[in-house]
Amino acid sequence: MVVNSVHWFRKGLRLHDNPTLQEALNGADTVRCVYILDPWFAGAANVGINRWRFLLEALEDLDSSLKKLNSRLFVIRGQPTDVFPRLFKEWRVTRLTFESDPEPYGKERDAAIIKMAQEFGVETVVRNSHTLYNLDRIIEMNNNSPPLTFKRFQTIVSRLELPRRPMPPITQQQMDKCHTKISDNHDQLYSIPSLEELGFRTVGLPPAVWRGGESEALDRLNKHLDKKVWVANLEHPRSNTCSLYASPTGLSPYLRFGCLSCRILYYNLRELYMKLRKRSNPPLSLFGQLLWREFFYTAATNNPNFDRMEGNPICVQIPWDQNPEALAKWAEGRTGFPWIDAIMTQLRQEGWIHHLARHAVACFLTRGDLWISWESGMKVFEELLLDADWSVNAGSWMWLSCSAFFQQFFHCYCPVGFGRRTDPTGDYIRRYIPILKDYPNRYIYEPWNAPEAIQKAANCVVGVHYPKPMINHAEGSRLNIERMKQVYQQLSHYRGLSKLLLLSCCPFVYIYWCLCCFICFLSGFVLHSAKSQCEIRVLNKPQDTGKKRAASSERKNIFFF
Ligand SMILES: Cc1cc2nc3c(=O)[nH]c(=O)nc-3n(C[C@H](O)[C@H](O)[C@H](O)COP(=O)(O)OP(=O)(O)OC[C@H]3O[C@@H](n4cnc5c(N)ncnc54)[C@H](O)[C@@H]3O)c2cc1C
Repeated sequence: MVVNSVHWFRKGLRLHDNPTLQEALNGADTVRCVYILDPWFAGAANVGINRWRFLLEALEDLDSSLKKLNSRLFVIRGQPTDVFPRLFKEWRVTRLTFESDPEPYGKERDAAIIKMAQEFGVETVVRNSHTLYNLDRIIEMNNNSPPLTFKRFQTIVSRLELPRRPMPPITQQQMDKCHTKISDNHDQLYSIPSLEELGFRTVGLPPAVWRGGESEALDRLNKHLDKKVWVANLEHPRSNTCSLYASPTGLSPYLRFGCLSCRILYYNLRELYMKLRKRSNPPLSLFGQLLWREFFYTAATNNPNFDRMEGNPICVQIPWDQNPEALAKWAEGRTGFPWIDAIMTQLRQEGWIHHLARHAVACFLTRGDLWISWESGMKVFEELLLDADWSVNAGSWMWLSCSAFFQQFFHCYCPVGFGRRTDPTGDYIRRYIPILKDYPNRYIYEPWNAPEAIQKAANCVVGVHYPKPMINHAEGSRLNIERMKQVYQQLSHYRGLSKLLLLSCCPFVYIYWCLCCFICFLSGFVLHSAKSQCEIRVLNKPQDTGKKRAASSERKNIFFF
């Protein structure tokens, strides 16, 4: 029987460690690699120009790697449900392969495509390669619910067998066996769209700081591993001035788009560690960063409302303020706090900011200063971050805003002191807020405190050339800590009631509950596992309470990256 395969790229934009692409090639007579994109809808997506550019570069890179193997990438314009029936007939497809998508919407979409393929008599092959582990297995081992503390997650992972080893890259020999004729007009029919075709204006667009694609990803991986000292010390790089800037060894956008396999990274780190330390089993902490990624994926995989408050069983319902004006100032880097504004400017210009910089701006927007919902911040990150990832982004925002995965709400980042400690000279500020470049170090984090003469000498008068701070941080953060305290007090009250109910039901439950409480107390996570849907009202801020949030913007099912 003739086997005509189509491999459908979505994430996983690579030829190395690509198990489903290997399946597509296996015993096939023809193989076509497709990417489906509907330029008509591009403008409707909450995706900024830097992310689109990264994607298009990744597709260019994929196409050029396939060309070297005498093949090409087929970019098809349209929607999968319209496109596939046509392709199935035109190319007499018998096998469709794609990487499984761990996100709930992706799973739904893929189930529909699998059903459609069945109707056309097309076999589908789906494998997991976006995450290290099988997320369903982790959930199963945690009594069929996702672990909601990182500690618990690590315990479960430590009981699992090692992740599957990465597969070798596709070879010329494999491709030759299923050589597929490329038509002369391939570029007219299946070319990669330009940013202009997607509706973006590119005049004056500065060059990309992060170049998309598998080749760049593998290059970075080598440099990353060359930082042997870092790896040997097993430390997450601290946030110093250097690490605030885009690093040539940064990997997050590449992992996000699947230009780099997380398993390649995992096994390279493992081997390097074993070489350096001469120990057989590296500690889990070495893979800490990668495990956080898995943790959020596991928490989100069966929760379609993971990116919103409403209907999200793990999210504490906090009555945030609605303040579009303040939100816009934050998003556009006009808060009047140079540290916050520099970070938001870097994000907008380059598409990446350091982890602790993310902490700083997320805390400022939510529980720290502005008391605006994490959902709004998440959407801004979704638009601007190259590594924006549905599960990791929403999970991190919930974390930072004390909305889930219990956090210490009484600790807030100071938008002056935090920056000053990180970069005492303020050069980071000067780079992203050039209007402040002539400020002396002493005032660069709080220019409003500079005497008038210094402001004038620096050619930047606060309130004229640079905004005044939009909030009094000391007052704002004190009030917000109080509000958060009330939220958590009410939450524990609510939980207390539910415990009482339980107690009245059964003495065994009571004993079990006491034991659980003790264990939770030890691990400091009493509030953490609250799956409360209770509406919490904060007494000193009544205007927003009880309001139903407008459902966050509908996630479009038309984009696949
Ligand atoms: C509010 C907020 C939003 C975030 N949104 C995202 C997001 O959308 N996508 C994203 O990949 N990361 C997100 N992060 C996590 C983290 O900031 C980035 O992964 C990290 O800064 C990437 O830098 P790096 O490439 O140097 O990663 P490294 O520190 O070298 O880590 C290697 C990889 O591990 C993963 N990783 C590292 N830290 C974390 C973490 N805390 N949580 C989950 N995964 C992690 C990433 O895939 C990263 O590429 C967010 C953090 C915060 C506080």
